[in-house]
Amino acid sequence: MAKKKVVILATGGTIAGVGEAGANTGYVSGQIAGVDLVAAVPEIADYADVTVEQFCNVNSDDMTGELWLKLAKRIDELAEDGSASGLVDAFVITHGTDTMDETAYFLSLTLRTEKPVVLTGSMRPATAKEPDGPANLLGAVQSAVGFALEDEPVGNNVWVYFGGDLFDARRVQKCSASELQPMGIDFPGSGTADFDNACESPFFDISGVTELPRVHVVYFAVDANPRLLEFASAISDGLVIAGAGSGEFSLPWSRALANVDIPVVVATRINHGVVTLNRNLALAPESVARISAGELPPQKAAVLLRLALTQTKNPSRLAKIFENA
Ligand code: ASP
Repeated sequence: MAKKKVVILATGGTIAGVGEAGANTGYVSGQIAGVDLVAAVPEIADYADVTVEQFCNVNSDDMTGELWLKLAKRIDELAEDGSASGLVDAFVITHGTDTMDETAYFLSLTLRTEKPVVLTGSMRPATAKEPDGPANLLGAVQSAVGFALEDEPVGNNVWVYFGGDLFDARRVQKCSASELQPMGIDFPGSGTADFDNACESPFFDISGVTELPRVHVVYFAVDANPRLLEFASAISDGLVIAGAGSGEFSLPWSRALANVDIPVVVATRINHGVVTLNRNLALAPESVARISAGELPPQKAAVLLRLALTQTKNPSRLAKIFENA
């Protein structure tokens, strides 16, 4: 059987990081080219016919909405274009771990193609004594080929492969800042893909979108100044609050929020559980949206709100989008 065609889109991150020879920390992300990362793992050629495209080479904290739009459009373009070297079967994206969950979720909400997309990265730079990038890259290619061999797409087609585990794009989070397996659902390594119950995401058509709405996350902690909300709402089209507990915050924040006339989604700064809308929102004007993020963590609620705002500002339509996400 002919090998599956996989395009590896390299975006940077620690997997392409360079530091002092042998050291695990103190490096600079996004230095090595994607072709060199792939050349360092010759076994990849046993599984797939691979081409590499250097999409960008950044620390993933420098990922932007503009790059997300370009990346999604590029993947769809490659998925649909059979003219060059034949149809692509699957995609692997090398990416920094810090915002990998956001990029994966964005792609799962916006890609037209149902071809598999697997993101991966590493916690140690390429120059570490025992880098984890090569094994992750090989595993991501093997997973992408495995999905491409399925007759039907499995759940949503965007996945994160890391440290031997697969995670679906909607639920994955970076849950550890330092462990070799940082990815999980609630804690590192948890929730390896449950293929039967893989989450489907709604679809947002971004073909006509040139710029994403501005959404900022505002983090609540004891004595957080309510003027943070005033400032954030002045520079945003929508806000996400990372509240305490089940999405709570102080009375001064509640009062300040009454004057915020843009959509607000309430999430929680805790890694686990569902947000309920509560007393904090009692003062909200009815004409603007006040929405629960449900189980989405703040950074993913922000991704969804940015996309939702490309379609509507209507409070009940926005609420429906969050209910169905
Ligand atoms: N700061 C790095 C990045 O996200 C961390 C990593 O890749 O692990 O690009």
